[in-house]
Amino acid sequence: MNKPVILTGIRSNEEPTLANYLGAFVPIVQMQKQYAGEYQINMFVPDLHSFTTPIDHQNLYQNTLNNLKYFIAAGLDLDNPDTFVYRQSHISAHSELTWILDCFTYVGEMGRMTQFKEKNGESSESVTMGLFNYPVLMAADILLYNATYVPVGEDQFQHLEITRDIATRFNNKFGEIFTVPLSTKEQTEFMKRDKGLRIRSLTDPTKKMSKSSDDDKSKILLVDAPDEAAKKIMSATTDSVGVVNFDWDAQPGITSLLQVLALLTDRSQEEVNAEWVGTTNYGDFKKAVADAVASFLEDFQARLRSIDDEALHEKLSVSESAMGEIANATLLRAQKAVGLRPRD
Ligand code: ATP
Ligand code: MG
Repeated sequence: MNKPVILTGIRSNEEPTLANYLGAFVPIVQMQKQYAGEYQINMFVPDLHSFTTPIDHQNLYQNTLNNLKYFIAAGLDLDNPDTFVYRQSHISAHSELTWILDCFTYVGEMGRMTQFKEKNGESSESVTMGLFNYPVLMAADILLYNATYVPVGEDQFQHLEITRDIATRFNNKFGEIFTVPLSTKEQTEFMKRDKGLRIRSLTDPTKKMSKSSDDDKSKILLVDAPDEAAKKIMSATTDSVGVVNFDWDAQPGITSLLQVLALLTDRSQEEVNAEWVGTTNYGDFKKAVADAVASFLEDFQARLRSIDDEALHEKLSVSESAMGEIANATLLRAQKAVGLRPRD
């Protein structure tokens, strides 16, 4: 197992949306298709990260598994030998390395993390140590597997940079213990991610569709009944222009629907635009999108139902054992470095 490691974590506390599917699940599945063979792909569910903010703990265990099932329904190939699928809390080295790294991380630098500052500003009384500390756990998630490539969104850039800082600091003090992941700039170049993909809210198309939104009509959930989802599309907020145009500024609602239609019917944007741009009946247009969404959900949910639970558990068990060995080897290097274990 000497292939360069791509590591990606898939956190999901709420039910994922169609936007998560198109913006995150599909690109990760495509990444597997493109890179497996040359690279090792670590896909883990950061279940320890799930309750840095309050959740319903009754559902955590099942949600963690469901999370993986959504990826499988989106096309993730469990049989691929370069892909490892595991749950963070099932490999205890994550927690153990976090403590060691904690002692080489400064309160000052953690306090500068934008995400923490934002949440802390909202309600500092209820902010937990877990939320404050989670970038260090994230550093452990990455460093344990010697991961070079960590494709993350912009909201995680700061956390990736602090991982690099912690690893470099540790290496400077103790020798080459950790592989330092590439910088965010190099990550972005490597992944060539389509950062432009932002499906809009169905009720306020100036905003993006978000799974945490309280407004049920603003989002299509992957578990929505297909006919209910179709109704949401039919009543989506658009505009009063009266002509279908692909124009994010003037007609964001219509434009987002054009994009959804192209992605779900596997056609180019040009082809879909050629069919609809210039037409004047929003009802007909929405009906085409609603049909595409309903038929996508029917297929997706059928795939979800047909997932072999046993095959998933088998994959988890093989992956957790293989990745546990790698993680423990890294942990041991760190333990020896700090003097918890005898040096060779
Ligand atoms: P939350 O409301 O909790 O922030 P979210 O729907 O924004 O939820 P995230 O957990 O923040 O989802 O992100 C999960 C993945 O989904 C990320 O890769 C993100 O880029 C992608 N994603 C989120 N919203 C959209 C969207 N509207 N269009 C395309 N991709 C999206
Ligand atoms: Mg978000």
